[in-house]
Amino acid sequence: MEEYETNRCLECGIDTSVQGYVNRYPNIHNKIAGYTCGSCASWSEARDEYRSEHNPEDDDDWDDDWDDREWEEWHKNEYLPEVDRDFPNAKRFRELIQMTAWTNTDWTTEQKKELLAIMESKE
Ligand SMILES: [Zn+2]
Repeated sequence: MEEYETNRCLECGIDTSVQGYVNRYPNIHNKIAGYTCGSCASWSEARDEYRSEHNPEDDDDWDDDWDDREWEEWHKNEYLPEVDRDFPNAKRFRELIQMTAWTNTDWTTEQKKELLAIMESKE
């Protein structure tokens, strides 16, 4: 059961009720029910496919390889800077989401408050 609901894309942080509504699909992360926006959809599919084919533990060039991916370059260098121009809270939202992405830790009370405030904000 998810504790929170948001229109934000859990990958890039945009408000999908404002942008990226078309082709968005539901996404869940650590008790937050949100979305993957249309723009992040193919990127996150490519990324997940890559992750399923490469194991960071026995793949020596996992990291190098990663940043060379076309889709990763596009997302990081072209797409996210646009997002951050249009949605000032998106960057912090991504940081907070990432904090619990690869660990079993939960957010602190302060971080949760911050997340909620961003999720409730309109931009
Ligand atoms: Zn997105």
